[in-house]
Amino acid sequence: MYQMNTTLSADAVDFIDDVKLEAMVAGLKEDPEAVRRVIAKSLRKEALTVEETAILLGAESPELVEEIFEAARTVKRDVYGNRIVFFAPLYVGNYCTNNCKYCGFRSSLKSAVRHTLSDAELVREVEALEELGHKRLILVYGESPKYSPDFIAHTVRQTYATKKGNGEIRRVNINAAPLDEEGFRIVKEAGIGTYQIFQETYHKKTYAEWHPANTMKGNYMWRLNAFDRAFRAGIDDIGLGVLFGLYDWRFEVLAMVTHALYLQSKFGVGPHTLSFPRIKAAEGLDLNLKYQVSDNEYKRLVAILRLAVPYTGLIMTAREPAELRREVLAFGVSQIDAGTKLEIGGYQEDRQKGEQTLNREQFKVGDTRTLDEVIGEILEGGYIPSFCTSCYRLGRTGEHFMEYAIPGFIGKFCTPNAIMTLAEYLEDYASPETKAKGMALINAELEKLDGKLRTEVVKRLEQVRSGKRDLYF
Ligand code: SAM
Ligand code: SF4
Repeated sequence: MYQMNTTLSADAVDFIDDVKLEAMVAGLKEDPEAVRRVIAKSLRKEALTVEETAILLGAESPELVEEIFEAARTVKRDVYGNRIVFFAPLYVGNYCTNNCKYCGFRSSLKSAVRHTLSDAELVREVEALEELGHKRLILVYGESPKYSPDFIAHTVRQTYATKKGNGEIRRVNINAAPLDEEGFRIVKEAGIGTYQIFQETYHKKTYAEWHPANTMKGNYMWRLNAFDRAFRAGIDDIGLGVLFGLYDWRFEVLAMVTHALYLQSKFGVGPHTLSFPRIKAAEGLDLNLKYQVSDNEYKRLVAILRLAVPYTGLIMTAREPAELRREVLAFGVSQIDAGTKLEIGGYQEDRQKGEQTLNREQFKVGDTRTLDEVIGEILEGGYIPSFCTSCYRLGRTGEHFMEYAIPGFIGKFCTPNAIMTLAEYLEDYASPETKAKGMALINAELEKLDGKLRTEVVKRLEQVRSGKRDLYF
């Protein structure tokens, strides 16, 4: 059986200075002039320092907070345009040796129904997701010797190989426990897109309270050092995150920015995405937490992250309720999931109609609408739902991942690709209402393209209509 080498990299450093960040949080105060200066820097699309991020966190008055929201909307529009990329999480197995006190998969929860998808079940799940129109998945695993790098690599390959009708998964990301360098090499070879892992909380004392020391996850540094090992193994596309509600959200925002800047300076590549889930109900979890993040604080943290790292994708998951998701989209979220099922095996048709049952799930989702419903709604909001996976497949990742940095990139590549993947979705999967809305949006977007590009996109849209798939720039 695979034996993980749990030695930290020789140059592993603890770059999170709890005392310094605590002092920054304690010293936060509103300084409107400084806030406006920092906003101006973000609007020039320059990444902020940790100190500048703290200045934004100090803003409390509704008027100043609104200025931050408005700036986030502007950065989102300028950097990302009006696309929203869709993905779906797929839970492969919930055996877990860890005992994270907030998680419905924790080892001490004996009532949890444990299961690992068999090959045949995985294929059925992937087919079910393809039949909804998904092109991009994130496979999720508990931490267990069952989920060795070879097992993970196998499930990734199997996901890519599964094709139903016009459906195919074009990008497979993973959210799996930290591996050693060799393990990361193995999963990289299987063609993973983003390697995602959340630190949960960067605050060491809190981390120790939620993650018992006698578990692998109890080792804070092993987790903090995970992306260093991933980079060394050749993975240059990573996603970091915090589980908000465990500790002071302002500390966590400063720590996330610290982590992003650390990776950028050490490896020349920052994170591709940041995730900021809030803790949700799970079996046996008392949600009456001291550090619960209110909706208003949540909006502030998303907007501030947007301004702090203008070129990093922001992922908001279905953990959040539909109404809040609508509002926060405008602040700079670039990826969302929809139609999410957290139950192992939950996408297969026979389980679709069932109520959420906590003993099979990790936690409750807040937005239970179908993919088609969410797409229909965001179309009404003027967004282009995108299933594009082009950059990753053309090798535009890591330091070559200039997607957002190159002037004109969005207009030349992202928007046309979003339009074409939306057209595929409308042809193959959308309800008649969503299709009508989508066609209207495509026509409006075509008007905005310059002549030559428009002609090219129209030509390819014709090809999509006549059955061709997977056309991209
Ligand atoms: N086992 C791996 C790990 O812990 O990193 C990966 C999978 S774990 C299922 C994915 C994420 O789910 C965790 O990183 C955690 O942030 C999140 N999670 C766990 N319990 C949660 C809860 N009650 N509410 C919201 N998110 C939760
Ligand atoms: Fe296991 Fe991950 Fe849940 Fe912790 S969060 S108990 S490691 S599945």
